[in-house]
Amino acid sequence: MERNQPVLPDSLKQLLPLSYNLWFSWNADAVKLYEQIDPERWERVNHNPVRMVQETSAEAWDRLASDSSYLELYSKVAAQWEQYESRKAWYGEKHPEAGGTIAYFSAEFGFHESLPIYSGGLGILAGDHCKSASDLGLPFVGVGLLYRKGYFQQRLDSSGSQQALRVDYDFNQLPVRPVQIGGSDVIVEAGVGDSQVKLKVWVVQVGRVPLYLLDADLESNSPQDRELTSQLYGGNQDMRIAQEIVLGVGGVKALRALGLQPNVYHINEGHAAFLSVERMREYVHAGVPYDTALELIRASTVFTTHTPVPAGHDAFPVGMVEHYLHPLLSQLVYEKDRILELGYDGEKDLFNMTFLAMNTASLRNGVSKLHGHVSRVMFRSFHGNIPVDDVPIGHVTNGVHMLTWLAPELQQLFDRFLPGGWVERQAESAVWEALRLLPDESLLKVHSSLKAKLIDLARRSLQEQRRRNGESEERIREAGTYLNPDALTIGFARRFATYKRANLLFKDLERLNRIVNHPERPVQFIFAGKAHPADHPGQDLIREIYRVSQMDAFKGRIVILENYDMSLARYLVQGVDIWLNNPLRPLEASGTSGEKAAMNGAVNFSVLDGWWEEGYNGTNGWAIEADPHADWHTQEQQNAESLYTNLEREIAPLYYERQEGSPQWAERMKNSIGTLAPVYNTHRMVQDYTEHFYSRTIERFRLMSMDGGEQAARLAGYKKFIREHWGALAVKAVTDDPAVPAPPGNKEVKADLYLGSIRPDYVGVEIVYYAENPRGIWDPVPVPLKPEADLGDGVFRFRGQIPSHLVHIQHYSVRIRPYHPLFAHRFEVPLLFSTVK
Ligand SMILES: *Cc1c(COP(=O)(O)O)cnc(C)c1O
Repeated sequence: MERNQPVLPDSLKQLLPLSYNLWFSWNADAVKLYEQIDPERWERVNHNPVRMVQETSAEAWDRLASDSSYLELYSKVAAQWEQYESRKAWYGEKHPEAGGTIAYFSAEFGFHESLPIYSGGLGILAGDHCKSASDLGLPFVGVGLLYRKGYFQQRLDSSGSQQALRVDYDFNQLPVRPVQIGGSDVIVEAGVGDSQVKLKVWVVQVGRVPLYLLDADLESNSPQDRELTSQLYGGNQDMRIAQEIVLGVGGVKALRALGLQPNVYHINEGHAAFLSVERMREYVHAGVPYDTALELIRASTVFTTHTPVPAGHDAFPVGMVEHYLHPLLSQLVYEKDRILELGYDGEKDLFNMTFLAMNTASLRNGVSKLHGHVSRVMFRSFHGNIPVDDVPIGHVTNGVHMLTWLAPELQQLFDRFLPGGWVERQAESAVWEALRLLPDESLLKVHSSLKAKLIDLARRSLQEQRRRNGESEERIREAGTYLNPDALTIGFARRFATYKRANLLFKDLERLNRIVNHPERPVQFIFAGKAHPADHPGQDLIREIYRVSQMDAFKGRIVILENYDMSLARYLVQGVDIWLNNPLRPLEASGTSGEKAAMNGAVNFSVLDGWWEEGYNGTNGWAIEADPHADWHTQEQQNAESLYTNLEREIAPLYYERQEGSPQWAERMKNSIGTLAPVYNTHRMVQDYTEHFYSRTIERFRLMSMDGGEQAARLAGYKKFIREHWGALAVKAVTDDPAVPAPPGNKEVKADLYLGSIRPDYVGVEIVYYAENPRGIWDPVPVPLKPEADLGDGVFRFRGQIPSHLVHIQHYSVRIRPYHPLFAHRFEVPLLFSTVK
């Protein structure tokens, strides 16, 4: 079904290749370029540049080619692209020698509404990550699946029930192209259960970053296998594991077919973790022993976990893994048991993808400070019950891609007041100090125009919904009057998962009625979001919101819009005054929609969970409070109380004082932008990943793989040795040594330790005591001890200085942990000897 390539006039010919690059989705001029071809069609084709170009007639091209203002816009965009594509950017400047390739695997990617291969936050994060990687010039490629039906489109019927619409997309109309080598398509194979599934490799260009997508919908596959890349998160466990094999195993094979040997494999959520098993097969078949191969894989893998909700971690019966992974495991006869062990969760007797990812990645992270901590608690027993703070899972707080989410109108305003190059330097907080210069009226004016656009869209969407549902003319007309452009407008949009508690606002409808229908200070709410088709409690939430929105008291003041996607999200985060989020803490790993809102001057009003727990500073938004140690029922009561009280006493009064000339609301908007935009963007996030994960990984993997993996073999040998000999450790004596001078208040101690056949350079020894920090909390303080002498018979003397008041071994503990210079971090082997348990 190849279409004929559209024929464009020479003077506009760049429009065709550019339509296949998602770069347009963060360039406002490029959007205009496609929109102006035919604004009405632009809406109809869901902002899809490929279709805009394909469906433009020869006459229309002629007209555009003789339109001087259109040609001017075209030249501007073409010049911007040329400049963008060739620029060196941050990575090239910061790491000129590094080179390498980073491969980022994810089950979903959200770049733009016209490429519907995302469901929600996880995918949009992956999309925003790729965009910043392109902007910053990282040597980066993405790997994912090309879903024929994507994720579902949502319709609401007249009872507020969600209808899930499945659309078969025509890949010829999407910005994807088959990858070709020597004139033919690239097809790879992955063994899934009893079949060899053929996968065609497509590419999507995201600025400078290519994203490779696998497609199983080929005639040479069986009808069942063709379904493997049909739906995102559709089907049962069997479908799920099969898809994950396609992604992980097929993904590695696709990279090889393209001649790519990345030095970093970033597993974005456990779905893609089978990539490590395919890499194991490669190494073993190349003659590398299992233990050495595992070190090489660990040294080159980064894993990001995204949810503290246990059901969010995929786990399969072991027999199911053996069946579906059989084609691969049968090639690893001697290693099979150890591979199954890598994912085995003995407590549940399941094969857990997060375990597989953690066991095959030496660097792992959660997605906010709080989520890092929650993950360390969750996976403490996985790490031999070492102290929570030592569990080797760090955090990189999620961000959003600024030019994707910032309203172009605001971007123009910032262009006038922020220093030149502010977009590239968006992660420097000094850049944002110039916001002081931005007049309040200009900001408020732009914001109210964005709010008017949102309300206009909301009315049209509700009218369209009612028309489709066959409702009366009067009901349709009425929806055109809903929402008041001058009223305080609060947005709540996200997936309807129950922990997000979308109905918290409805705990006390009387009180809500007084807030919404206040005579001087009316408040209105706009809801949106999809529930997974298998999530019935989530769909009940949608019906409940719909039911409240139909009550006389709330009609036109509480609305729920259908089909939350990236387009609707942009309208919402750019147009509301307040962004509301009230999940049950700490279940929101990060959340990103509030970050999109913040940079647009919408002020956050949220539970102190995820990113907001660290972003909120007391003056840049509002907190919905509760005692974090109370049971969930009490937290819910307290959160609801805090929600209402803040709206009544703080938020609504402050908002309406702005009409009496009070500068406070605009100040809060600016404060929110100025403190949050520099931090919660993906430029900062990708820079963090680069500094803390990617560059270290590139360096370490290079070292480990030199000379046929000699260093990796050495590390593997050390780990085996240390596990075998760890049981023998003992503390012989710890004594003061007054002969050695120490600073006032301190003293010298010597510790005689029995290490058996372990050399003293290959352990880390420390004394740990507790001290009160300025916040009145007792923190552990580790004091490293240095090896001094071999006392014979496996006993070694170590030394260090500790506060003099620690007189008794009960006042502190002696800890010994494995140490090797090739470790990625302190607890690469989670063994800990301690004098206290
Ligand atoms: C940003 C976004 C999300 C994720 O938002 P959260 O705050 O993480 O819930 C989900 N869906 C869409 C369409 C978005 O734009």
